[in-house]
Amino acid sequence: LTSGLESAWNKLKGEETLTKENIAEPMQDIRRALLEADVSLPVVRRFVQSVSEQAVGVGVIRGVKPDQQLVKTVHDELVKLMGGEVSELVFAKSGPTVILLAGLQGVGKTTVCAKLAFYLKKLGKSCMLVAGDVYRPAAIDQLSILGEQVGVPVYTAGTDVKPAEIAKQGLEEAKRKNIDVVVVDTAGRLQIDKAMMDELKEVKRAINPTEVLLVVDAMTGQEAAALVTTFNLEIGITGAIVTKLDGDSRGGAALSVQEVSGKPIKLVGRGERLEDLEPFYPDRMAGRILGMGDVLSFVEKAQEVMRQEDAEELQKKIMSAKFDFNDFLKQTRAVARMGSVSRVIGMIPGMGKVTPAQIREAEKSLKVMEAIIEAMTPEEREKPELLAESPAKRKRIAQDSGKTEQQVSQLVAQLFQMRVRMKNLMGMMEGGSIPALSN
Ligand code: GDP
Ligand code: MG
Repeated sequence: LTSGLESAWNKLKGEETLTKENIAEPMQDIRRALLEADVSLPVVRRFVQSVSEQAVGVGVIRGVKPDQQLVKTVHDELVKLMGGEVSELVFAKSGPTVILLAGLQGVGKTTVCAKLAFYLKKLGKSCMLVAGDVYRPAAIDQLSILGEQVGVPVYTAGTDVKPAEIAKQGLEEAKRKNIDVVVVDTAGRLQIDKAMMDELKEVKRAINPTEVLLVVDAMTGQEAAALVTTFNLEIGITGAIVTKLDGDSRGGAALSVQEVSGKPIKLVGRGERLEDLEPFYPDRMAGRILGMGDVLSFVEKAQEVMRQEDAEELQKKIMSAKFDFNDFLKQTRAVARMGSVSRVIGMIPGMGKVTPAQIREAEKSLKVMEAIIEAMTPEEREKPELLAESPAKRKRIAQDSGKTEQQVSQLVAQLFQMRVRMKNLMGMMEGGSIPALSN
């Protein structure tokens, strides 16, 4: 998916605005990429239509390139397509919360039971698993072993009792034991068939679950839409869990769930271990699908933080090498407003992971900078040269800010370096030499 979309964005490089004409080709690429990612055709159609309308309707923001703007629009629509917000599990107001799991064979239902128990335990909830897959004794053993690993009780009644009856008994037992959440495992088939659906309906009727979660394998592909639709019509689901997102699936299944059922994905499985279950974040999923680092959040934040006038003024100052400590402070604060340094760094495409230690370091030095600049007089802030020339001034600032003279000197040097770097960036090499600090 990623490579297809990247070529789509590249076609927009150099364009000034988004028009019906110039987005036609990138949109064609997006359509193809989504189909290749196994998103079902009707979903793709609606998606492309909606993005095209959005993209052309909205003007391009100053300082944001049209390709970035289109990325953002596609991203926002993807997020919307996947339900927008995180959907939390719903808990019963009184008595045990009952979660019924449904899905085809091998998608990861039994594994999800154990993962859910692990997840819920961490939330401080007590949990019980119910072995409702009566067709294979091995399935009951599998659940019992997993339950033991997590340290939660597993209710079993062998293979001779009907699943609906087992579920009911399990629920009674949970009530007696004051268990918070009961998770009912069920049997899947390789294909949707009537016997499976009837059985699920019966189980559902017997226990009146708070959540009916359809477990979907991320590799399901094009059939995901039909699968989700059928399960939803037949038994009525409240949401879905997408498993095996750790594999090299193209994620198309995740895109179809909400669109065809109106029900959200609540959790995702990212591996075989107990801890590999997480809430589903539509925005992260969209980011992953787009594979664009986080250009889009960068665009978003840039909109919020850098008002246009500020940006223009800053540009003028850079050009005339007038970038001073006031600008420095403004930028620093803008960065602070944008959230933590870590998030900002994470948004810059091409920047890898930042370690927590590096983040702490960066945040600390931001604080030091602020303190030093605040200890300067307005004149000193506007004319950093004054500080370059006067050790006495630097000493005073060090004392007032509670920092060392060395830290002050460093900051002054940094400002001049920044002037040069910014000028270079703008392709203007003349002027802007770094003065040596006099001692
Ligand atoms: P069920 O038939 O729906 O109950 O499926 P199981 O829970 O027995 O899982 C089938 C297989 O998929 C097992 O080998 C699991 O270890 C594996 N599995 C389940 N969830 C995940 C996941 O999120 N990632 C990966 N890689 N494997 C998974
Ligand atoms: Mg199973």
